[in-house]
Amino acid sequence: MKKGIHPEFKEVTVTCACGNTFQSASTRDELKVEVCSECHPFFTGKQKFAERGGRVEKFKKKYEKKDK
Ligand SMILES: [Zn+2]
Repeated sequence: MKKGIHPEFKEVTVTCACGNTFQSASTRDELKVEVCSECHPFFTGKQKFAERGGRVEKFKKKYEKKDK
């Protein structure tokens, strides 16, 4: 009877703080992130985000799931 229990996932454009954009699935119309595969220290080799390790790992896991 209740509405909104199962929000529909749809294709959205995710905008990263580095300026990169990519497609992902979300219940929201748009998404903004602070790191992506283009500026992630794992890919860039930069230490800039090293102190955000835990957060980055969380982000990475989240997006690895949807790839499967
Ligand atoms: Zn980025």
